[in-house]
Amino acid sequence: MPDTQAYKLPETVRPQRYQLRLTPDLTACTFAGEETVVLQVGEPVTDIVLNACELTIHTVSAVAADGSTLPGTATLDEPNERAVLRFPRTLTPGPWQLRLTFSGILNDKLHGFYRSTYKDARGQDKVLACTQFESTDARRAFPCWDEPALKAVFQVTLVIDKGLTAISNTAIARETVLPETGKKEVVFADTIKMSTYLVAFIVGEFASTEPVLVDGTPLRVWAVPGKHHLAKFAQEIGAASLSFFSRYYGRRYPGDKLDLIAVPDFAAGAMENLGAITFRETALLVDAQTATRSELERVADVVSHENAHMWFGDLVTMRWWNGLWLNEAFATFMEMLAVDDWKPEWHRWTSFAVSRAAALLVDGLKSTRPIEFPVQRPEEAAGMFDVLTYQKGAAVLRMLEQYLEAEAFRTGISLYLRKHEYDNAETTDLWDAIEESSHQPVRTLMDSWVFQPGYPLVTVRADQHGLVLSQQRFQYLPDGANHEQQWHVPIFLKARTAGGLHTQTALLTEGELRLTLPAPLEWAVVNAGGHGFYRVRYAPDLLSRLTANLQENLSAVERFNLVNDTWAAALAGLTPLTTYLDLLQLFREETDHNVWTAILGSCHYLYRLLDPQQRPALQAFIRTLLDPITKRLGWSPQAGESELTSQLRGELLAALGTLGDDAATQAEARSRYAQYKTNRDSVDRNVVPALVSILAYSGGPAEYEEFRGNSKTATTPQEEQRYLFALAAFRQANLLEQTLTLTVNGEVRSQDAPYLLRSLLLNTDGRERAWTFMKEHWEDMVRRYPDNSIVRMCEGITALVTPALEADVRAFFATHPVKQGAKTMEQHLEKLRIAVACKQREAANLKAYFARVS
Ligand SMILES: [Zn+2]
Repeated sequence: MPDTQAYKLPETVRPQRYQLRLTPDLTACTFAGEETVVLQVGEPVTDIVLNACELTIHTVSAVAADGSTLPGTATLDEPNERAVLRFPRTLTPGPWQLRLTFSGILNDKLHGFYRSTYKDARGQDKVLACTQFESTDARRAFPCWDEPALKAVFQVTLVIDKGLTAISNTAIARETVLPETGKKEVVFADTIKMSTYLVAFIVGEFASTEPVLVDGTPLRVWAVPGKHHLAKFAQEIGAASLSFFSRYYGRRYPGDKLDLIAVPDFAAGAMENLGAITFRETALLVDAQTATRSELERVADVVSHENAHMWFGDLVTMRWWNGLWLNEAFATFMEMLAVDDWKPEWHRWTSFAVSRAAALLVDGLKSTRPIEFPVQRPEEAAGMFDVLTYQKGAAVLRMLEQYLEAEAFRTGISLYLRKHEYDNAETTDLWDAIEESSHQPVRTLMDSWVFQPGYPLVTVRADQHGLVLSQQRFQYLPDGANHEQQWHVPIFLKARTAGGLHTQTALLTEGELRLTLPAPLEWAVVNAGGHGFYRVRYAPDLLSRLTANLQENLSAVERFNLVNDTWAAALAGLTPLTTYLDLLQLFREETDHNVWTAILGSCHYLYRLLDPQQRPALQAFIRTLLDPITKRLGWSPQAGESELTSQLRGELLAALGTLGDDAATQAEARSRYAQYKTNRDSVDRNVVPALVSILAYSGGPAEYEEFRGNSKTATTPQEEQRYLFALAAFRQANLLEQTLTLTVNGEVRSQDAPYLLRSLLLNTDGRERAWTFMKEHWEDMVRRYPDNSIVRMCEGITALVTPALEADVRAFFATHPVKQGAKTMEQHLEKLRIAVACKQREAANLKAYFARVS
């Protein structure tokens, strides 16, 4: 295994304070920079090694404590993204000031210091400059010690055109017009001691909301002019979550102001730069009157997530990228807590079941990895931003929190932050703090979840004394390895016995655990509340007693898990697929939208699996399944209904009109959409996306042209995305061909194009052509799209469910490796293998089943 040290900078010199002055030229797409770095030299050196990438270093000098200056030279080591500064004589240990001048480019790859373009209200092209440094791209903007543990204070100065706005991590200390150039020099206050990847600067035409004061901190939302009226919702959840976190963490916000900034071109969802959080527009700007509930939830989630990072990540930071989960799992966990606190009626922890299920899916693969995983090279760090870091990480924290009880957990977190503020920490430091607060052996419990790949399948049977639980690793495909792996599994038991309802927590630490219960046992749930990160398989007699009264015995999350665990068992070949379909028949009266998400997700999966002649039978099955609930819900909200019910209506109608191919629903959708065009209030906001997706599925060239036009004239980011992605949901080859062209002709932003292509790959009517197109344009796409998006785009290959396509996919990626996210790519390939294997194993059974039930 390569040595992490080989990728780390020498420890001979440590930066303490950077004074940075940058002059971006938005027309030439370049920038000029100067920096003075206060250093502590630890041992005599003639060379200083630091990170730099795509920069030209013009002058180098080192100033000693006595004021004497030593000129130096710079040699760039591009493959290693480093610069070596060489001096004619030795720098003695002690304080030095390093002075550099340099220049660089404002690139188009949405990393480092890059440019973003947009059209203003009058249709004129505009340019702005923005940064995105995580994980290792600060080195593209200024020479620096670009490692999370090398924290320093940053003082940023931006020199910009007079009409522009500059934003950085801290408040503006002073602003002056330079007489010689007429430019504006904006000097920002010192930051706290923090990591390089959290530095940010944004320059362009921006407008902001009025600040709201949250415990004394001014909080604003920024956007390009003409859009800040879409900022109110984000400002509300921004203020609510900031205040929630300072209470939860027991410590005030560490910055002097907080700006939330929407950027037209953005590779990730958002970035937690201290005091200057950047977002893609869809994650921040929203019209609360017209957006669907799930679109609002997304904004609330992302804003809360980033705010949570101000403490977890920014104030206390992982020492190296292997500990990324400490940042991301926590921010994801805290995002749920804050949104749940803000809008309890959304039942955010119930919908978290969908995220947990996504993690259980990937973690059931042979190609999974432990949450904490050795990381050396920068592209490996970039590959860590995945479902295992975020969703599995958050799920195991939730499991721990519920096992320990919330207050003991919270006290431990608060203690951890206090001990390590302005510094770095490792996983073990977190367990130390929670052990101190809870007096429980947290480390032993959590090590089994954080350092081992996978998770257990807990098998449950009843005997005359109660329940017998056993654990073994769950995998979709047997890999022939010896699986003696065990976990410390928190069991949350809920059982109905002769004595009434019985609840209990227990720890399954070995192969088997026996729980004594008063007889007779009516039914039992061993992952009550659904917080456990494991799957459960009940013996047939227990299962039938449990499902006899589903809606009464099980909560929504428990029903979700029952569906999802049974589906997984069917995919793994542990349970016949037809048993799963029988189970679905019990859910016709289901009212929770998350449970339906699990059901419909599996139906989509089956649809992609089936040969065209088999699909009508599945569609008939889906229509029967959806019939009672869609009839009951109708097309319009009923007085006093919850937002969740409105969302459910939209999702089910969409499924009935597309997956169910229901002609009556399609006709009704057409008529309602015609009404919607003349009166936008005539259709509930949660039903609008259903109309769009049904019209795409059942429509033709006229709808295509209309939606394409709508995506350009949309007045909110959500509407723009809705119509843009609908272009991948049509079924005619010539229309899908036009959408394919959009992914490479520059008409669609590079932040969106890879995801549009993913949707095309997932479209059963267009997947083969999309695959050929992707192969043909691969080099162009890799050059054009953000590095982090390539592997996400490739998720679409999981829909190419035939043995021949699978072979072709494998052959292609054997010679075209993905630069970032090699592990994730392996997982896509394994998911495809599982689907093809399932198709081969179950095709005949499915045919017989549908012949019987329809
Ligand atoms: Zn995050």
